[in-house]
Amino acid sequence: MGEFELIRQFFQREQAENTPAGVVLGIGDDCALLQPPAGCQLAISVDTLIADVHFPADAAAEDIAERALRVNLSDLAAMGAEPLWFTLALTMPSADEEWLRGFSRGLFRTARQFDCALIGGDTTAGPLSITLQVMGSVPPAQALRRDGASPGDYILVTHSLGDGAAGLAVIQQRLSLNAAHEDYLRNRFYRPEPRLQEAYLLRELASAALDISDGLVADLAHICAASDLAAVIDVASLPLSPALEAMQDQMLARQWALTGGDDYELCFAVAPEKMPDVAMLIAEGRLQATVIGALAPGSGVHCELEGEPFVLHQSGYRHFAHD
Ligand code: ADP
Ligand code: MG
Repeated sequence: MGEFELIRQFFQREQAENTPAGVVLGIGDDCALLQPPAGCQLAISVDTLIADVHFPADAAAEDIAERALRVNLSDLAAMGAEPLWFTLALTMPSADEEWLRGFSRGLFRTARQFDCALIGGDTTAGPLSITLQVMGSVPPAQALRRDGASPGDYILVTHSLGDGAAGLAVIQQRLSLNAAHEDYLRNRFYRPEPRLQEAYLLRELASAALDISDGLVADLAHICAASDLAAVIDVASLPLSPALEAMQDQMLARQWALTGGDDYELCFAVAPEKMPDVAMLIAEGRLQATVIGALAPGSGVHCELEGEPFVLHQSGYRHFAHD
């Protein structure tokens, strides 16, 4: 199958059925032509996923596609931006039709779920790698940035931490729990939830935010650096899922929550005067989030358990750390 037939069959066909919002010209020309929503700013992010670095190479193509798009959408959520469009640069060893069918299915299912349209890309031969670029819109001056936090702001995270690392451990058979917990964790790894609805609520409430991809400690350090502050985390307050709470080794569960990565939850700062509004959203069940610490003058991320410093075993996943 030639390159153009492949593009037509697996990436263009679904598009022909309906024209997504703002797409003046989609796949098939030298460029896509896009009309952003009036008055909005564009939020753009690109990410490359390499086989065996960012996902197991033998994972199902459908899972790889779904995870790749969800991870990118999480970057839009981290800015408070609403998904609009994405591009796909796909490099693969050969045009394996069965693999492409699965990949296309996972990709478009996710694209439909989050209302984000594929508008172009590039297809080349080589070792398996997937580059997605997402574009979203955000009202002017409402984006959730890393540099807006102040001393005294609370630090919160959405949902639970450590599930990404535990999910990978289950997939790689380094962790075994009961079947329901294992299913939950595998699902958390392959289908991380971009916290978009949470992010829209936080636009007016958070002073800084990001999504946790490399681990809480490593990512929170970016807010600290950008806002010129220190963070103090109370390890006992870290939200753990029932699956992590079922682990025999609770110290390992906490280490994963702090440094494991792949969680794609939001970590955000809230000024004390905005906390009643955030607490109300939490009480109403519209926002699932937990206070895990506070920002203070200084630098770096400091973890404490019962008043004592908590020793970290690694401070986040670093690609090429073994080089
Ligand atoms: P050019 O050579 O002009 O860069 P290509 O031959 O790379 O164009 O691509 C032809 C069309 O198909 C373009 O509109 C491009 O955006 C689209 N395209 C190529 N690969 C993909 C892909 N994997 N997914 C979606 N669209 C793609
Ligand atoms: Mg090209």
